[in-house]
Amino acid sequence: MSTLTSVSGFPRIGQNRELKKIIEGYWKGANDLAAVKATAAELRAKHWKLQQNAGIDLIPSNDFSYFDQLLDTAILLNVIPKRYERLAFENQEDTLFSMARGYQGDKGDVTALPMKKWFTTNYHYIVPELESSEGIKLNSTKPFDEFNEAKALGVLTKPVLIGPYTFLKLARGANAQKLEYDKGLVNAVAAVYAEVLGKFNELGAQWLQLDEPYLVLDKEPGDVELFKSLYTKILAAKAGVKVLLNTYFGHIADIYETVNLLGFDGIGLDLNEGREENLEAVSKYGVASETTIFAGVINGRNIWRNNYATSLGLVDAIKQVTANVAVSTASSLLHVPFSTEGETGIPAEDLKHFAFAVEKLDELKEVAVLADATEDEKKASAALAANQALFDGTRVAADPAVAERVAGLTADDFVRQPAREERQKLQREALGLPLLPTTTIGSFPQSKEVRAERAKLRKGEITKEAYDEFIKAQIDACIKHQEEIGLDVLVHGEFERNDMVEYFGQNLNGFLFTKNAWVQSYGTRCVKPPIVWGDVSRAKPITVEWSAYAQSRTEHVMKGMLTGPVTILNWSWPREDITHEEQTKQLALAIRDEVLDLEAAGIKVIQIDEAALREKLPLRKSDWHVKYLDWAVPAFRLVHSAVKPTTQIHTHMCYSEFNDIIRDIDAMDADVISFEASRGDLVVLDAIHDAHFETEAGPGVYDIHSPRIPSEQEIEDRIYEILKKMNVEKVWINPDCGLKTRGNAETWPSLEHLVAAAKAVRAKL
Ligand code: GLN
Ligand code: ZN
Repeated sequence: MSTLTSVSGFPRIGQNRELKKIIEGYWKGANDLAAVKATAAELRAKHWKLQQNAGIDLIPSNDFSYFDQLLDTAILLNVIPKRYERLAFENQEDTLFSMARGYQGDKGDVTALPMKKWFTTNYHYIVPELESSEGIKLNSTKPFDEFNEAKALGVLTKPVLIGPYTFLKLARGANAQKLEYDKGLVNAVAAVYAEVLGKFNELGAQWLQLDEPYLVLDKEPGDVELFKSLYTKILAAKAGVKVLLNTYFGHIADIYETVNLLGFDGIGLDLNEGREENLEAVSKYGVASETTIFAGVINGRNIWRNNYATSLGLVDAIKQVTANVAVSTASSLLHVPFSTEGETGIPAEDLKHFAFAVEKLDELKEVAVLADATEDEKKASAALAANQALFDGTRVAADPAVAERVAGLTADDFVRQPAREERQKLQREALGLPLLPTTTIGSFPQSKEVRAERAKLRKGEITKEAYDEFIKAQIDACIKHQEEIGLDVLVHGEFERNDMVEYFGQNLNGFLFTKNAWVQSYGTRCVKPPIVWGDVSRAKPITVEWSAYAQSRTEHVMKGMLTGPVTILNWSWPREDITHEEQTKQLALAIRDEVLDLEAAGIKVIQIDEAALREKLPLRKSDWHVKYLDWAVPAFRLVHSAVKPTTQIHTHMCYSEFNDIIRDIDAMDADVISFEASRGDLVVLDAIHDAHFETEAGPGVYDIHSPRIPSEQEIEDRIYEILKKMNVEKVWINPDCGLKTRGNAETWPSLEHLVAAAKAVRAKL
């Protein structure tokens, strides 16, 4: 039998973001739900057919979602908090959207469920909230409907679900409490999965894929037992359908022995991330005779061509242990763009090095064919020869000046003087700010008009001068508005930027850009990361003119706004021929030049966003420092170490899940940090308190991802919660990040409430 090919999941937003557009249209009232459903069905059909035509054997279904697959899983299990159910929508889709985005209207007023990053990706999932295990039951026909839909189109799919272990590990109780995995809960959840398995058996499915990425994390006491008891129950219900236990983003060496004994028909292993450990576990514990190893060889998280020789070597390594090997994508392809087709802006010479989702399908098929080929057939294979040619020789032009500068760095370049406490005192005097100073994270709503003007500039329909005048007018209006509502530290609004990473990439040497390589970030939000293609350096000042202009228009302190090196790298497609550490150092030097130029231009407060620093923290604790923080934190210090003591350096981070690395965040040696907090719980405040955190901090006081407007009282309450844990002298008041994605209609009233709340609290101090 020839080697089976399996795709873990496929991007669902659409080649031209069709799903985004139709859903956002629905939210705005421009089209109805029927139109959303029609587009969704078209996209699913197209994606299934693409995979079928590429010769993929196990094509996923139920990898589609209107918002997020973990939210779908919660709804499938009827894990829907009462406050959303009480809104009593007619359609399950509206309930889903209210959980994902909050709701404010004639049916009621509820905030959204928290959102968190999906492992080490920039994809965000909705955190399920489980009020009690009593209501758990099979509550949706979505997986079955999609299976039947594909079947009617002539595609027998492999349904995909997030598994019960990962679901339970990511879910929270009411008030963000940790769940107790008691017997009632475990049985209830296992029973639903068993029922699902039974239904798919009736429907004629051959494989069911259960994704358990949480298995690649360190185990807490009880985890292995939890996993075992869930799956013992589920697998007991197994009839004809084969069950593939799929893992990704790391290795499962610490539980492989248990998994192997449970009797799965397939075990999916990531052979990119966690390669050595996974291979070692397989050879140490063997593979049960009825089990097929799904070798995850096609990277689901990069955009580079697969190296066939490497993949074939990995398949061979598994074949030393078992003959039952299938080849698979290492993770879902959700995290890569759709296709390189149409990327005419990138020279063909460069583009041939890239493989997005569609191209990865062909790679998967070719690897499977080659895995079955004899040595002679391989020698004669044009596909293998063409692939080999891509990896022979260097493909990236090095810049010796960059290498030299990096090599010349000394320990002093990473240390800012004087000590922070002294700086903070000097800054307080120099800046003359009140207690609880108010500010925002940088961007303001990017209206249609702003985006239209940028498009016109790109197409050459307006001159650069006309565009600059337009942006200046936007900045003027934004400053005026901020002054009117009484914010303390102003921002220029980031109107000139399409995106906080792409904008910098475009102004640095060493990057390539795509037209349409969008990747889903959360819900309908997509990002288009640039590609690091060569050594990085700054060609000329990037933001200085804009910040200086903005400062010239106000008496208030104007905050300069930059993106930090770790974030630029994490939100780009990095090179694979040199280390991330090396690339980050190059970026840090480029941004350091920009910081010093801003300072020289009279900017007294400079924010260097490290929005994505937390995101790439390795999943295993033992890797945290050696594989990441030991170079990521110094890279940030390198960026700002040469500024004057009175220049205030801010940083910003998305998501406040850094209780465990709070000291590392402090070690970045920024003067102030703002972070996104309003959708998460505030345990980070305990960590700040306990660690004697020195950096001044602004935990976001309201959620900007939701269209609802917080009341002044709500924000005041929030501030008091913060003051319970933090010294008032260290507290800043700001919203969460990303105002760019909101409309003016909700932004300004919300900020008015924020300023009023800060003033009210100040008055009572
Ligand atoms: N300065 C950016 C903004 O305000 C930060 C965005 C982010 O945190 N992702 O939009
Ligand atoms: Zn952020």
